[in-house]
Amino acid sequence: MDVVPLSTPDGVVVTYMCGKCWRTAYTESLMNDHGQRVDEHKLTLRQKYAQECCTCRECGGYVNGPYQYPFICPTCRPAYDERQAAALAKYRAEADERALLTARSLDKSPNPTSARTLESLMSEISEARWCAGWLTDLEYYLWRDAHEDVNSTMYNYAGLLQLAKECDGWWEYERFIPMNEWLEKYATWEKTHGEAAKA
Ligand SMILES: [Zn+2]
Ligand SMILES: [Zn+2]
Repeated sequence: MDVVPLSTPDGVVVTYMCGKCWRTAYTESLMNDHGQRVDEHKLTLRQKYAQECCTCRECGGYVNGPYQYPFICPTCRPAYDERQAAALAKYRAEADERALLTARSLDKSPNPTSARTLESLMSEISEARWCAGWLTDLEYYLWRDAHEDVNSTMYNYAGLLQLAKECDGWWEYERFIPMNEWLEKYATWEKTHGEAAKA
């Protein structure tokens, strides 16, 4: 939509407003303690927000207020909602499919309960160490570290190995891998990544 620059009397543009609803994004000053304008990037952002204000994200047409996010005009709304619903259905189907594959992989464990506990402990350590529910290649790092530092007082590596023994396997993101298969996988990984991936 229309963008109106707002400037000081001597012509310095300090922000932009939406020409339709006269709103501006943010109210914080872009002037520093020395009276100079800082952060040109923020000014550009404000221009962008003013441009996007009152603008339908789908057709680029005008959306009458009140302030709504994301801006979708009434004409575009039904198709947009339909697309969102389809995306949700797809997401749901994929999640179901993944859950099924996980369940099937667990059939290969003599102790699925321990296997499930192992999975959550692996994820818990991933969260504690790397702030990620499941770090990429977590399975390899944890296997290596648990063996190298089994007496760790930071992480329950001994517990990991105990559970792995009970369920006779290991997890590769959402999939249970029987121990013999896992040992082969790990040996292959160690050859190519082992040293380089030490962190
Ligand atoms: Zn607006
Ligand atoms: Zn529209």
